[in-house]
Amino acid sequence: MDMRNANLLTQIAPSAKIDRATHGWRAKCLQRLIRMELPVPVSFALPSATVQAIAMGQDIDLHALNELFSMGDGLVSVRPSAMNPEWGGPGTVLNVGINDASHARLSERIGRENADAIYLSFVQGYAIHIARLDPDMFAQEGKDALASALRIYRDEMDEPFPQNPERQLAGVLRSMARAWEGPTARLLRQAKGAPAEAPLGLVVQQMRLALGPGLCGSGTIQFIDPVTGQSRVTGRFRGQRHGEAVGVGAETLFLTRDERGSSLEDVAPEIFADLVRFGVAARERLREEMQIEFMVTDGDISIIDAVKVQRSSRAGVRVAVALARDGIISPEEAVMRVEPRALIDLLHHQVDPRGKRDVITSGINASPGAATGKIVFSAAAAQASAARGEACILVRRETLPDDIRGMHASVGVLTERGGMSSHAAVIARGLGLPCIVGASDISIDLRSRSLLAGKRSLREGDEITIDGTAGQVLAGAADMLEPALDDAFNQLLEWADEISRMDVRANADTPEEARTARNFNARGIGLCRTEHMFFDTDRLPAMREMIFANSPEDRKLALDRILPMQRRDFIDLFEIMAGLPVTIRLFDPPLHEFLPHDRAGLRELAESLDLPLSDVTRRVDALTEFNPMLGMRGVRLGIAVPEIYEMQARAIFEATVESSRKGKPVVPEIMIPLVSAMREVELVQNRIGAVAEAVRNDRRMNFTYRLGVMVETPRAALRSGDIATHCAFLSFGTNDLTQMTYGLSRDDAGRFMGTYVQQGVYAEDPFHILDQEGVGELLLIGAERARSQRPEITIAVCGEHGGNPESIAFCHQAGFDYISCSPFRVPIARLAAAQASI
Ligand code: PEP
Ligand code: MG
Repeated sequence: MDMRNANLLTQIAPSAKIDRATHGWRAKCLQRLIRMELPVPVSFALPSATVQAIAMGQDIDLHALNELFSMGDGLVSVRPSAMNPEWGGPGTVLNVGINDASHARLSERIGRENADAIYLSFVQGYAIHIARLDPDMFAQEGKDALASALRIYRDEMDEPFPQNPERQLAGVLRSMARAWEGPTARLLRQAKGAPAEAPLGLVVQQMRLALGPGLCGSGTIQFIDPVTGQSRVTGRFRGQRHGEAVGVGAETLFLTRDERGSSLEDVAPEIFADLVRFGVAARERLREEMQIEFMVTDGDISIIDAVKVQRSSRAGVRVAVALARDGIISPEEAVMRVEPRALIDLLHHQVDPRGKRDVITSGINASPGAATGKIVFSAAAAQASAARGEACILVRRETLPDDIRGMHASVGVLTERGGMSSHAAVIARGLGLPCIVGASDISIDLRSRSLLAGKRSLREGDEITIDGTAGQVLAGAADMLEPALDDAFNQLLEWADEISRMDVRANADTPEEARTARNFNARGIGLCRTEHMFFDTDRLPAMREMIFANSPEDRKLALDRILPMQRRDFIDLFEIMAGLPVTIRLFDPPLHEFLPHDRAGLRELAESLDLPLSDVTRRVDALTEFNPMLGMRGVRLGIAVPEIYEMQARAIFEATVESSRKGKPVVPEIMIPLVSAMREVELVQNRIGAVAEAVRNDRRMNFTYRLGVMVETPRAALRSGDIATHCAFLSFGTNDLTQMTYGLSRDDAGRFMGTYVQQGVYAEDPFHILDQEGVGELLLIGAERARSQRPEITIAVCGEHGGNPESIAFCHQAGFDYISCSPFRVPIARLAAAQASI
């Protein structure tokens, strides 16, 4: 090769200096295939610096490629070779080098019609993409199409179609290099995570033709099913067809034996066997499931290219595990190869990506999975629908505790308002129900029982599909894929747990959620929100009675009703978790969530309390706060009305005694919410200590417990040194901590969050991905001050961020002991925690 060109062009040979950063992934991959001695036609790699120079209009000496034009049929292809296959690139150009002379030679060898088809497809492509002529002028088909295309080219360009192969190639390279620099290509690759200035290499390859005498054709073969990941040969073989050029006698064959028609396996068993052999070798050497592109020229096979098989999330898990089990990659690498979020698709039903999608509207993807059902607008209608055995989707402006039974009866939830940590979102995630919140362009008309989404109007009873993974509402019933909690899924997570240095617990309030958490191998419960145990219709009245009690005697009566319910709840949780830690948070009811919201509700309450409506109304008014989320919540209620926490402590300790007598000893963890001052902790600690003593005496049994504090206010984070002296663990409630650090209501943020993120005010929704710079700093300060006072203190996060991979990596870096998230996010968190440890 000419030394002047040494840095411009490199023939891809086993020992050539080809690297991905300079020449792109395709060039590197072809070199590997060549090293494996697969029949790859002669190929040259152009480094990205050369491609850039070409884009800038520099003339490049392409002399070295002349040898390609003198080989075989004298035609070459040009393919893009970006650093990462996902970044795309300009389309491949085939048949460069065809001219009148080679056309004549080809006509002899493969027949006139085939030669015409090849020449025509190149003239058309060249005229449109390089000479930039109007595509409509070249739409003609049939016998005279080639002559007509050549004539039109000459008329439009005032010169005959270029006959010099080197000139054709220069034109093709320039057009591909410039296409890569164009604004559309930049935007497209940026959307796929590539830097705008990402380099592009090109590969120029000798062409073996798939048209002509004997068995000829082009095809692709892969060895897995791209949707399920199961081992299976898929792909196709197109006889007498090469790119756009369709030859005489073109027909598509199956690859493997098939009742529906002829197959390559039958027609050419030795070629099929070679392909399978190549596939096995490629999988082992490239450590990946590859799709191989091949050509057959008169019964002779060549390998043109190989790309990683595009696959669904479930196939991705299966492939990674299979490669590790076969010893081709390590378990660590298998763990690293699966994007934690991809597991979401395996845990739930999923809209089949192959089906069609009629999107009505979209919102915040608050809880993943997909479900189809008929629209209902109230909890009562949802229950009626469930009683009829009809799947329904509950559509509300927002949900309140009264809607819980409706949510239980529905297969999916859609709300107009709300954000990632609003009531509907939190409850739906706990139930594993697909849910979209903050779908702000819908409007619900309860009187006409209809819903307007953009220009489309839907009525109660109309069928829709909620795609909670994508945050899209679809018309009608979409095709679905079943969840895939199979052996590969379990194996991957087992490896993840072996690698991980941080535990993953679950936020679970009910036995059902605790069971889900156990099934997903959570290492305990990190947050049981006890007020959620009273969202149930049977229990809501008792809770309301307690809130409405006017005197200590009335309150005691209400608490006496609640105590056995709570004791039962905790016994159930302890039993299900079988000795794993269970962290119970004392009541943190934003009171407004428990108050009736309309006249009917008030009347119902008056009836159940046996009070005049006016009394109840007055009391509701008195309890109504301007800012309930900053009002008498959490420990403030515990300090103001100590009997409530005392009752809960008693229930926890009595359950501890009972469960410990039956099985493994239980060490309950009691957590105080919304603390902002050390004195709050001291007061509660003393009262709980007294209750513990009383229960030990009553039940004549000793037990221990751990007391902890939820750090949810900036002040608690700053004062965590003092606070730590009174507790065994700190758990950051990052939902409230985010709300209070930003001064941003978690229930209203959905309204403008989209605009804020779009305009770059916030990089991400901070309720979704932990704000590492601001809230994160409070976490680090809090952990550091707490540890300096009490080095052995356990530090955790139990806000929604506990299920978010980026936030998990942050917690791992900070050396936290565990994170706790919704049960259905436990597998994602386990994988993310393992990846952070590698
Ligand atoms: C939190 O604030 O992060 C938290 C876990 O508590 P809740 O979401 O119940 O307010
Ligand atoms: Mg909170």
